[in-house]
Amino acid sequence: MDPAIVRITLSLIGPGILVVFGIAFASAWLIDRKRNYLLLLAGACMLFAMGAASQILHCPVDIGLNAMVSGALYTTAVLMAVEGVLLRSERSLGLGANIAIFVVFWGLLWYFFYVDRNLIARIYIQNFGYGIILLVAAYRLSGLAGGRLGDRILFWSLLAFGLHFFPRTILTIGFSEPIDPAVFENSVFWQALQLSLAVLGSGFALAILAASVADVIDDLRHERDIDHLTGILNRRGFEDAIATAVRRSGSVTASLILCDIDHFKSINDAHGHEVGDRVLQEIAKVLLRTKRKRDVVGRVGGEEFAIFLSDTDGTEAYECAERFRTAISEANFSHVVDRARITASFGIATATGGRWKHLYKSADNRLYEAKGSGRNRTVASSVSNFVSV
Ligand code: GH3
Ligand code: MG
Ligand code: MG
Repeated sequence: MDPAIVRITLSLIGPGILVVFGIAFASAWLIDRKRNYLLLLAGACMLFAMGAASQILHCPVDIGLNAMVSGALYTTAVLMAVEGVLLRSERSLGLGANIAIFVVFWGLLWYFFYVDRNLIARIYIQNFGYGIILLVAAYRLSGLAGGRLGDRILFWSLLAFGLHFFPRTILTIGFSEPIDPAVFENSVFWQALQLSLAVLGSGFALAILAASVADVIDDLRHERDIDHLTGILNRRGFEDAIATAVRRSGSVTASLILCDIDHFKSINDAHGHEVGDRVLQEIAKVLLRTKRKRDVVGRVGGEEFAIFLSDTDGTEAYECAERFRTAISEANFSHVVDRARITASFGIATATGGRWKHLYKSADNRLYEAKGSGRNRTVASSVSNFVSV
């Protein structure tokens, strides 16, 4: 077979892989259309593949026009990839910066072709330039380095992809070596470029795909574990969070506070269910701002909330419950309901080993006592042998 055809076919493998990733990103967007960053990434893959194909297939044939067209495609692709990765974390370089970067790149490519014809300069501008843009994105996303597994993989692959532009260019082309355009396609630089784009580019694209799968799983978990009305954990999420907290701390002593709003039915009856809903939202906010950092708050029933206090004995739990109770009774609900005061009753159970259900049952019994003895009060007890379920 004609060696030129073999070389061109092999060169097209890299762009071909990018097209496959482009289709994968576009399909992922079609499944869940609210993730627009996937569209940007699909566009980035397609434009980069088109840029490479235009160089490999000499389309357009005119060398100057080819350099300008492929340069524009590459630059737009890199900017779209960076915007896509940033958008996933609700960030952006901004439209102005994107346009400015594009104009500078294109202007420099034009200058070093039509004014001062210098291939080495164009190669350095593109490779170092793209490397710098990717590193700026990595810097903006440095918070991901300490995040979830998907975030960490994405951050490190972005950093590796950005960094690789520098040594690869220096090692394969040097600073002064003149390049004969006729043998450029057989140069070590060009071969290394194709290989690195195929390997590191695919690694980077796979990392983004993995991160977006992790995003979908997180969203599903959120749907499953979060109460839609108040935005805090629902009963299932709360029980899971406790199991995790106990596993982490190997909890010796733990306390559970149950909180039930007093005469809540009368709020619904007098003002309507919607106002009742808003009261529930306000109560959740009060609990969240009153809790300690490690405490877990959830809505475990209609107007019943729970707070899990790991590594907290009965005395401390009682103080916490009283803080919650006072915060609710002193909170201002006037913007929600025309009612002088809203109060809640609290039951506490503290244990060292045992079962979650026992702790819950015990706290529920104390809550019942608090209701029976006049409401707006806290009653505590302790259960032994607490172990997470
Ligand atoms: P107590 O002081 O004994 O707790 O009296 P209560 O009226 O708060 O207790 P009860 O259990 O009789 O009433 C709870 C009410 O909570 C009944 C139900 O309609 C209401 N409720 C449960 N879930 C929701 C909800 O999501 N939104 C609203 N607005 N009301 C709810
Ligand atoms: Mg109730
Ligand atoms: Mg109630």
